[in-house]
Amino acid sequence: MNKLIVIREIDEMLETYCDGCFIKRELKTNGGKAVAHRFCIDHCTVGEQLRFLGIELNKVKN
Ligand code: SF4
Repeated sequence: MNKLIVIREIDEMLETYCDGCFIKRELKTNGGKAVAHRFCIDHCTVGEQLRFLGIELNKVKN
């Protein structure tokens, strides 16, 4: 996968799902940043996909 494509895909996902995410905002308010971050990584399919794309981004050279 091309690096630019991966970056674009990450941006698009962040814009579409994460910007203004109600769950994250609530968790951050009630449990703190780390709790919200943990939820994104462990329990959200969007977070799971972002993690996958992050790994892909590290694999591609350009
Ligand atoms: S990863 Fe999921 S829970 Fe976290 S901000 Fe994005 S959409 Fe919200």
